[in-house]
Amino acid sequence: MALLKIVKESEDLEFLRRKSAPVTEVTPRIKALLDDMIETMRDANGCGLAAVQVGVLRRVVVIETEEGLFELINPVIIKKSGEQQGLEGCLSLPGKWGMTKRPQCVTVRALDRDGQEFELTGYDLLAKAICHELDHLDGIIYTDKAIRMLSPEEIEQDE
Ligand code: ZN
Repeated sequence: MALLKIVKESEDLEFLRRKSAPVTEVTPRIKALLDDMIETMRDANGCGLAAVQVGVLRRVVVIETEEGLFELINPVIIKKSGEQQGLEGCLSLPGKWGMTKRPQCVTVRALDRDGQEFELTGYDLLAKAICHELDHLDGIIYTDKAIRMLSPEEIEQDE
């Protein structure tokens, strides 16, 4: 396993804006990518990471919350309901926080590392993380959807 370099908005926003292509076959290379993404996410204390954030334009996402570790290949949201409002940050935008509105519950369909289709339903933080990471696959960054961004003073107060 290896730590990967996280693409930062300040260094390569253009890359983060690109759309990721579907995975056509779950090869050993994709499995190695998942492993490296998990290691990189944990090292950065994040709760989610999309492949585009480590320089790979493939529809691959990892998420880790209290509910567990989730690996999503070619994920598609098939159901969403409710609404939640809260703070959101991104490993590609360190030091920034924004207030967003997201569904309170989402169900996603994806492939696992064995190429098997599965569905995952997440509430609250997991729902927010699923939406945030899937947006990355289409070049969307949470700041596009933020109701407002926190000021540096507000962030300081929180710390
Ligand atoms: Zn992000």
